[in-house]
Amino acid sequence: MHLHLANSMMALGGVSYGAAFSDEWVVEHIECHTAEEVMRCRGSKYVQSSLTNKVFASIKKNLEQNIPVLFTGLPCQTAAVKTAFGDNASLFLVDLVCHGVASPMAWRQYLSDMQFGRIESIRFRNKTYGYHMSTMRVVYESGVYSKSGRIDPYLRAFFSGIAHRKSCNECKFKGRRRYSDITLFDCGRYCELTGDNDDDLGHTSVLVNTKKGEKLLLELGKEEVVFSAIDRGMGEQLNGKMIEGCTPKHPRSDSFYSQILSNSFSSVVQSYLPIKLSDYCIEAVKGLACKTGILTFLRKAKERKLLVTKH
Ligand SMILES: Cc1cc2nc3c(=O)[nH]c(=O)nc-3n(C[C@H](O)[C@H](O)[C@H](O)COP(=O)(O)OP(=O)(O)OC[C@H]3O[C@@H](n4cnc5c(N)ncnc54)[C@H](O)[C@@H]3O)c2cc1C
Ligand code: SF4
Repeated sequence: MHLHLANSMMALGGVSYGAAFSDEWVVEHIECHTAEEVMRCRGSKYVQSSLTNKVFASIKKNLEQNIPVLFTGLPCQTAAVKTAFGDNASLFLVDLVCHGVASPMAWRQYLSDMQFGRIESIRFRNKTYGYHMSTMRVVYESGVYSKSGRIDPYLRAFFSGIAHRKSCNECKFKGRRRYSDITLFDCGRYCELTGDNDDDLGHTSVLVNTKKGEKLLLELGKEEVVFSAIDRGMGEQLNGKMIEGCTPKHPRSDSFYSQILSNSFSSVVQSYLPIKLSDYCIEAVKGLACKTGILTFLRKAKERKLLVTKH
């Protein structure tokens, strides 16, 4: 969705800002004027992006010159931008529903532990086993690393909540009243919401919060984006748990962070969140289960069970 929103902004003569990897694989917000820069922002990066004064200064400069600005970030980041620039007609804010981020230090320690050498690309959510299962995929000088959240140490730590920042456990930026014009989040329960088949390639939920958000979305009509109107309540109930909810603090989070400072990242994950032989066995048969449709069958059965339990 970022690509389409950013393209719309370029068509309006504006610029966009999003989170991209730097040459050193640090996640940082960048200013985008070209399709290539916009492409760098695609994909969720499960680490706090650096939002520097330089970015604020460049947004200020663009707004002063009446250049439309699209800023996409986590709710705490869009709140910071809104606080800095107020209700400016040229400023369009998009936030993501967010369950929390890990500290850049954890990300640094993971990369240093993995010793990939020269890296060409990183994806936290590769669709190796479909959209519903996050896979870390790193293309590096001598090969491709690809492991799902079950056995990749970083994703395992992230999804368990042990690597979440303290501020995320008491997030002040969640809720139905947003600082943003548009809110984006995953649409994992696409079939139930639309009645259509899910191709497992991924769908994005879009909440329009303001008139300005509506205007931006109308611009998207000129892009090749297919929309399905869904019931907002149902959409939020099935996919938007984290619109309001905070992840509880993991009881061992503090000690995890102090341990990764002086020990290898994967050994700390192994002692706090042991990856068992059964995990490796499940990972080994995942490819086949995915190809034969067993993985989709099991996911749907789990979702049906959740739905029945809720009612
Ligand atoms: C840390 C994090 C936690 C999330 N938690 C949830 C959740 O609990 N539930 C849910 O439904 N969705 C969550 N999302 C949002 C979801 O993963 C998608 O980013 C969102 O649905 C937009 O999808 P897309 O295909 O349009 O994004 P894409 O077109 O792939 O673009 C990704 C967008 O995300 C921005 N972005 C990527 N990483 C970061 C980052 N670290 N900091 C700030 N901005 C970033 C980019 O700038 C870009 O605009 C989370 C995203 C992140 C980054
Ligand atoms: S959970 Fe809240 S504080 Fe943490 S990154 Fe997300 S919006 Fe920011």
